[in-house]
Amino acid sequence: GSLSIRPREIGIMAAVAEQVVADLREKCATPASLLRDVASAMAGEMSAGLEEEGGSKVKMLLSYVDKLPTGREEGLFYGLDLGGTNFRVLKVQLGGTKKRVVDCESREVTIPPHLMSGTSSELFGFIASELAEFVADEEEESTDLLNGKKRELGFTFSFPVRQTSVASGTLVKWTKAFSIDDAVGKDVVAELQTAMEKQGLDMHVAALINDAVGTLAGARYYDEDVVAGIIFGTGTNAAYVEKANAIPKWEENLPNSGDMVINMEWGNFFSCHLPVTEFDQELDKESLNPGEQIYEKLISGMYLGEIVRRVLLKMSLQSGIFGDNDHCKLNKQFHLRTPHISTMHHDETPDLKIVSEKLHEILGITDTSLETRKMVVEICDIVARRAARLAAAGVAGILLKLDRNGSVDNQRSVIAIDGGLFEHYTKFSECLESTLDELLGVEVSKSVTVKHANDGSGIGAALIAASQSR
Ligand code: BGC
Ligand code: MG
Repeated sequence: GSLSIRPREIGIMAAVAEQVVADLREKCATPASLLRDVASAMAGEMSAGLEEEGGSKVKMLLSYVDKLPTGREEGLFYGLDLGGTNFRVLKVQLGGTKKRVVDCESREVTIPPHLMSGTSSELFGFIASELAEFVADEEEESTDLLNGKKRELGFTFSFPVRQTSVASGTLVKWTKAFSIDDAVGKDVVAELQTAMEKQGLDMHVAALINDAVGTLAGARYYDEDVVAGIIFGTGTNAAYVEKANAIPKWEENLPNSGDMVINMEWGNFFSCHLPVTEFDQELDKESLNPGEQIYEKLISGMYLGEIVRRVLLKMSLQSGIFGDNDHCKLNKQFHLRTPHISTMHHDETPDLKIVSEKLHEILGITDTSLETRKMVVEICDIVARRAARLAAAGVAGILLKLDRNGSVDNQRSVIAIDGGLFEHYTKFSECLESTLDELLGVEVSKSVTVKHANDGSGIGAALIAASQSR
């Protein structure tokens, strides 16, 4: 154990570990000048992606949502939300302008991990069975509310989909922890419909949307000045309202509203300005989707803990600072998760007691010195801060594209954000907001509001289903 190590050796070990931290700090630096370059690159990629199909790594997918909820929607609608780690079924009763959401009921389940890499029919079979169970458990009163009409469903499917209409589209690729090969290229609504039929469930899929689009819709329902919906959760993405005549690749008739919601799929953004380290490169190489979603891998909840784990592992191997603890847990991919690093990062006890507990509980590391624990916190800080600052640059990029990066009298721009990372990782969200202010400057930042849109992806789907039906 560490007791047999002489003080001089401890000093050397600490110095080696400090060096790992110092290198990381330098390679993850995100000065404002770099962030401005990232923001311009994002705006440039947005234009390129709108220009022609395949014009950019940022796909700028058409959502076919040309009208956002107004508040006047009425009736009972259902929603499905499949995205990161959880799956939800919900039911919303909309009461029009005065009453808005009269009632909302939902049920959430963790997606069994084996379904994330199985077959398409297994995944959709699971979804349909959960939905069937939810409907079977309904009170009679909701059946009454339907008045004999078919149940209308909005499906939030949080992966890149090339839409063919507001209620159909084929899966471009999987992201996050999903990899179900036989679903790629298939129409996800058709898959769902087939699975529902097998369950004897008679529902109509009125809308297929991305969670970023749902967040935009859900927030717009309450506030007309919402211009974009953004997710910082397991993955990351943004959606915003574009003028249909500013979309050269749009070949069909212009929608009546003149607007089109774009699902950016910004997780796949790449720019040479991104501060990518050896840890990120290795993470990417060993991921389910090497070479893809590079921006997402720097920013989102699925990856932040994993980046920190890789840094800790290197630090441990090079310096021996964790003593002769058994490293099998530190060696395990994705074992350290973002909620864990968040907990350590927010530890305010003077002797970093919580960090010590987490290191023990999660990684089996004991007997750390306060100095070592401070280094662990700093690593979390470097990784989370880089993520938040790059995220802010992305938001600034959208404002740049929308020409809302200068101050215009009486123009408010509201950015609605949802996702577990933004909601629960306080230092991440605080840093994101202060960085955005830093990038926009005092005047402009007064007209830009970032707001947490709770549960956009669930209610949003039901709202879009409502505005499509009628
Ligand atoms: C997906 C997006 C999704 C985002 C947030 C990304 O991995 O590609 O479609 O919106 O995660 O859930
Ligand atoms: Mg979600």
